[in-house]
Amino acid sequence: MSAQPFVNKHLSFSRLSRFETCPLSFRFHYIDKRRAEPGPPLKFGKLVHAVLEVLVREHMEDERTGPLSEERALELFRQGWAKEGLTGMELFEEGLEILGAFVRDQGDLDHRDVLAIEKEFHLQVGRFTVLGFIDRVDWVDDETVEVIDYKTNRVLFTREEVDHSLQMSLYDLAARQIWPWVKNVRLTFHMLRHGVRMRTERTPEQLAAARAYVETLGAMTEEATDFPARLNSNCVWCDHKQHCPAYADALKGKRDVVCEDTADLEAVAREREEVARLAKVLYARKKELEDVLKAHLEDHDELVLAGVRYRMFNTTKLEYPFEPTLRVLAGATGLPKDELVARLAAIDKKALDRLVKEVAQDRARARLLKAELENVASKSHSPRLWAKEVPA
Ligand code: SF4
Repeated sequence: MSAQPFVNKHLSFSRLSRFETCPLSFRFHYIDKRRAEPGPPLKFGKLVHAVLEVLVREHMEDERTGPLSEERALELFRQGWAKEGLTGMELFEEGLEILGAFVRDQGDLDHRDVLAIEKEFHLQVGRFTVLGFIDRVDWVDDETVEVIDYKTNRVLFTREEVDHSLQMSLYDLAARQIWPWVKNVRLTFHMLRHGVRMRTERTPEQLAAARAYVETLGAMTEEATDFPARLNSNCVWCDHKQHCPAYADALKGKRDVVCEDTADLEAVAREREEVARLAKVLYARKKELEDVLKAHLEDHDELVLAGVRYRMFNTTKLEYPFEPTLRVLAGATGLPKDELVARLAAIDKKALDRLVKEVAQDRARARLLKAELENVASKSHSPRLWAKEVPA
């Protein structure tokens, strides 16, 4: 560890989030200043962000109104792909799909509606300066802006994550500082892989809490004397995993805790948590290895390696359209349609949620309609184990 006390030159969301996620990774990155080696998801995310930045910036600089250029997006993507040293047909295709969908979803864009792209901010929070860049800020009306953060995550955030995101709270504070006329800030995570915009907003109380939290966490990064490794499912993509003894041990399945007496519940819980952490790391590693094999199977029908035969095959998913299915069944069984509907039909929850969002004119009406629908829904319950670390 460095002899000099560690002092942050500035704070940033990524700095704070790294400390929260894994203190050891924070130490490698910011204190020991080890060279980071980002994996494909980080490089891919960086590339997609860079393409969108240039694409929208050019649209603004040329003072265009109309659709963004899909052709230009793909050209930028191809150029950046080689520069980032990315590989793999599947990921490449995903990039093309994400960008095509973004352009289509954006529709006509009036250059005057985009206030800023990659907007830099310096926010004073107590004794710290928080530095950051906002992907994009759109003008909504004379009192409102929309802060947009592009995400290439595979998994959608939960509502709780969106509503309590520290990143979004910092962006809200920054937008109010940069544009003092702003009274309302809409905060949007644009989940590019899903074509979904997850929106939230902040109350003055939440913003004050975010400031206090940043000061507390900033101080913790400087006062910490211990930087424990916190194994998690993203270790496989950690840009310092090559230096991390905990990750190396996890890959070897090295275990510290084996409960010998299942009557000792403390020991049961300790082993359960260790196994759960290792399982996350090993599952992510399995996926990483499978992706390598899949990439090779694009050029070969099959591979025989270490005594195992690998092949790709297509799985089939059947979806039965409502009317034609009922017609065939009614004809074949002679059962009345009403009875068939009562026995078979159930409404897909995701499709229903989408429809409610589409037809309800505002959040309050959507909540009301959802509550009414929940009243008529049939509910089933299944037991599930819930586990969350208790702060020491
Ligand atoms: S590999 Fe995992 S445990 Fe190790 S430094 Fe990175 S995030 Fe932390």
